[in-house]
Amino acid sequence: MELYFIFPEKPFTFRNLFAKSFLICYYNCIMVKGILVSDRENIVKVCQNIFDKLRYETEVITDEILLAERLDVNHYDFIIFDTLTPVMDFESVVKKIKPALDFTSLLLIVEKDFSNRNLTKFANALVDETASEEFFVDTLLMSLRTRSALEKLVNTNKDLADNNYRLNALYTTSSRFAETLDKEKLIDCMIEGVDKALSYSLMMTLSFCGAEPVLIINSLYELSEELVSLLKERIIMQYKSLFEGKELPYEVDETNLKIRKTVKYSATRFNFSLFEFDNMFVGLESGENFFGCAEIFKETPFSTENATCFQTLARQVTFPLKNATLYQEIKTKNQKLARLERLKSEFISIVSHELRTPLTSIKNSLDIMLSGRCGELTNAYNKFLTMAKRNSQRLSGIINDLLDISKIEAGKMDYHFEEIGINTVVEYIKSTLSPLIKEKEINLIIEEGENLPKIHADAQRLEQVLTNLVSNAVKFTPEGKNITIRTEVLSSKEFTYPQSFAPVMEGVEGDYVVTSVIDEGIGIAGENLLHIFDKFAQIENSLSRNVGGSGLGLPIARQLIEAHGGVIWCDSELEKGSTFRFAIPIAKHPAQTALV
Ligand code: ADP
Repeated sequence: MELYFIFPEKPFTFRNLFAKSFLICYYNCIMVKGILVSDRENIVKVCQNIFDKLRYETEVITDEILLAERLDVNHYDFIIFDTLTPVMDFESVVKKIKPALDFTSLLLIVEKDFSNRNLTKFANALVDETASEEFFVDTLLMSLRTRSALEKLVNTNKDLADNNYRLNALYTTSSRFAETLDKEKLIDCMIEGVDKALSYSLMMTLSFCGAEPVLIINSLYELSEELVSLLKERIIMQYKSLFEGKELPYEVDETNLKIRKTVKYSATRFNFSLFEFDNMFVGLESGENFFGCAEIFKETPFSTENATCFQTLARQVTFPLKNATLYQEIKTKNQKLARLERLKSEFISIVSHELRTPLTSIKNSLDIMLSGRCGELTNAYNKFLTMAKRNSQRLSGIINDLLDISKIEAGKMDYHFEEIGINTVVEYIKSTLSPLIKEKEINLIIEEGENLPKIHADAQRLEQVLTNLVSNAVKFTPEGKNITIRTEVLSSKEFTYPQSFAPVMEGVEGDYVVTSVIDEGIGIAGENLLHIFDKFAQIENSLSRNVGGSGLGLPIARQLIEAHGGVIWCDSELEKGSTFRFAIPIAKHPAQTALV
């Protein structure tokens, strides 16, 4: 309690003092609430004028009996007591107001004719020690200043602690958002976060994140069926109000809305006064996506910080909810794609098997006829039978490719790894493809590296790869030009490749045996270089269409080389020619060990 006596000796020095002292409270941002006890019109007028200017919340009452009543229900920062107000008995007044004075300043408006005796009596009654002190302006101002500074510090500390707690709750909740891509879990996480940061009495969340709309009620106390039904109605109305005049993203009514209720203390019940509580409402949406809305109730009023915190949490949850939606969409699409891919592989495998059997019989019959065992052939017969044989061989090649790719994709390709020299593979190609090369009058140049280290490989699969590369080179190279097959040892640092192959080369390190097939053919445009390793890819040009093919040779080659722990790439220039290279590691690759 602080006791101030004020002596307005000159006419209204009181006014100056009063304004000065209270201004301090004002500048220190203390909320000031006071009460004036006076029945003198001029004093009331002056004081009220000052209160209004300072924007203090101040009540005016006319006698001390009313003062006691007001003190029972309110806290005041100051009481101004006009000592000329007719007071019968100072002691009884003091008795009544004394308990309230612990944190309240008392100001007495004392006129000259207020006798010293009375004043001492008043003071004695207020302070237990028989002391009557007189505080003058400076003392009063200093005292007020200290008190306001202290109060400010206490409030700041409290605000800091509150903010710290709220920030912590926000931080923990947002880190938890990153832990899941399950939309329902994310909503639960937000509800928990709001509970921690704002400690609501009741929160209801209308969520469209599951298979059906659900109203999640998290309540401190039990709720009657009637109250739940009213809450249901209310949240649906709130939701619809967000889309007034627009189409609702989800249809919802009281019949199809499921309820999920959690009650903390079921022994106590909420009644309808819940609707008189302070409340906040927020929509959970991000751009085009709408996930629901939430409303919280609290018995005591929410502050501006509470509102910001609620909105922040609601906004924060919408980003992971959006990601979860995208993730769900991608997952469903992937599952669909995987199913289609499997069906396609099965289809290819079945069809190819069904085609291979009759084709083998056609090929055999053509061979027998061409051998002359069924009678002498005229030139025309010979010509057409040879054409039929060549096409049946081509068809057989395409069917084999289809079977290979479906086997590789199903993980059913067999490999027989052993220590081999790459030049043996080159020699094999030289002998098998010589007739084809000669037929087209192309020069085959072989540049075999000397003393090449052995590689751990399946010779038959490498022959398949090299056959494909060389026959492509023959297909796309004009007569009279050169095709070179070169083998050498290169370190990965010496590899040269177009920029588009950089991702393919990631993680490629060490020494490799590299085989290159260099042609002087039509070349491939830069933008198609990666693309030709895709299944069924053929570059749109008349030559590709004329020479035919399945578009599977290179994808098969890539898969076979990758199964060796190697890498395949190409470089090319239109009209100048292409170079296809594949590299097999010298050191034993773990993938190979697993496959042996
Ligand atoms: P295909 O059996 O159709 O030749 P590939 O997968 O072996 O299938 O080749 C795919 C496409 O890549 C070819 O259709 C052709 O357009 C292009 N291509 C492959 N090798 C060469 C090359 N040496 N020169 C030019 N284009 C080539």
